[in-house]
Amino acid sequence: MKKVSIIGGGIIGLCSAYYLAKEGYEVVVFDKSDMNDGCSYGNAGMIVPSHIIPLAQPGMIAQGIKWMFDSHSPFYVKPRLNADLMKWGLLFYKHANLKHVEKAMPALCDLSLLSKELYQDFAKESNSFFYEEKGLLMLYKTDKTAEEIHHEGKLAEALGLEVDFLSKEEVSKLEKGTATNVIGGVHYKSDAHIYPQKFMQFIKDELNRLNVKIHSQTTVNNFVIKNNTVAEIVTDKGTFATDEIVLATGSWSPEIAKKLNINISILPGKGYSFTLKGQNHKPSIPSILCEGKVAVTPMNTDIRFGGTMEITHTKDTKINQNRLQGIVNSINDFYPDLKIEMPKEEDTWFGFRPCTPSGMPIIARDKKLKNLTVVTGHAMMGLSLAPASGKIVSEIISEKPTSVDTQMFQL
Ligand SMILES: Cc1cc2nc3c(=O)[nH]c(=O)nc-3n(C[C@H](O)[C@H](O)[C@H](O)COP(=O)(O)OP(=O)(O)OC[C@H]3O[C@@H](n4cnc5c(N)ncnc54)[C@H](O)[C@@H]3O)c2cc1C
Repeated sequence: MKKVSIIGGGIIGLCSAYYLAKEGYEVVVFDKSDMNDGCSYGNAGMIVPSHIIPLAQPGMIAQGIKWMFDSHSPFYVKPRLNADLMKWGLLFYKHANLKHVEKAMPALCDLSLLSKELYQDFAKESNSFFYEEKGLLMLYKTDKTAEEIHHEGKLAEALGLEVDFLSKEEVSKLEKGTATNVIGGVHYKSDAHIYPQKFMQFIKDELNRLNVKIHSQTTVNNFVIKNNTVAEIVTDKGTFATDEIVLATGSWSPEIAKKLNINISILPGKGYSFTLKGQNHKPSIPSILCEGKVAVTPMNTDIRFGGTMEITHTKDTKINQNRLQGIVNSINDFYPDLKIEMPKEEDTWFGFRPCTPSGMPIIARDKKLKNLTVVTGHAMMGLSLAPASGKIVSEIISEKPTSVDTQMFQL
């Protein structure tokens, strides 16, 4: 059987490894980190068929510019005189229109629903990662946001998702964990959630069982290309021959793709989270606090809060205290009884969401290099879309028809 080498051991790389190993391939994963704390670990753990509208959407540019002047805002583009940023911005501008959103919505919805089914299969095997189907509550405090959120809810309903539009009283009835200070909410019954760190452990155990070799702390630096085929992978720990190669390098994809003479426009969207352990008094339904764009996820006995999207570069590892304060302020505004304090810097996690300018993930066979498949750019939906993306990677390499149409996920 062919040997498939996967570069990148985040959730996208590991789910690809899983479905490829299940198909009988010999699978090897390379990751430069110790694979314990990257973007796939501290995220909000939401599985979101509800998220059908890509980041590139009408109105986002004007909103983004407004937010750039507010240091507590949830979205920020770090201004730099940099060719990659300018190119990304231009492409984002080109995609931020209704026509793109209309094409993106059904594609994202299909991919997401497939992923949810695959998570259900995993959970049947062993729910060590606390998979739960409680839906997602979009909570809001102003009429203006209510209008936007209702509009999105109607679009999701039109695609066949089950959506409830709730009054203030109905929100209180549903959210029994703690009081909310909102004027209403939209409940997407389609959504689910997991504990990301526990899922990463689960999938690593599965890969171990399937004899997948994982080389952590191994950086891929270059490639040997022969006859339009990647023949060898050059790492800091030696050179490895391969038959197939999968690029799943998240926010680092542009730099590694350059070594393959491929242009991928991705910028990291830095986000923060913090987790309070062993909390009895906490929200019981995963929620988005819409005005602050804060994600709230109960994970077994813990509760995780996450937010902010700073479009930046991968060397920017600073924790911006103002933006973190913005998250804390939103939580205390929406949940008056929680009284959350600013987390210490050492208790604050950050991760880089790999953001494409179209807001669409890439799941595609390269057109020039015959044995290269690219799977990256999942932005704020990487956990949600990982199993489906991994399954499609295995179908592409096996030359089988893909489970969902991949036209919107091309390079
Ligand atoms: C605050 C926050 C909340 C989020 N909440 C959610 C959520 O609720 N639901 C959801 O679906 N998504 C969420 N996300 C997004 C999700 O976490 C990401 O989309 C996902 O983790 C991306 O996975 P990945 O495997 O593509 O990238 P990563 O997890 O970043 O993995 C890429 C890997 O490639 C490795 N790598 C890079 N270059 C090399 C090289 N040269 N050699 C070897 N290895 C290399 C890196 O070390 C890294 O481990 C959130 C993100 C953030 C920041």
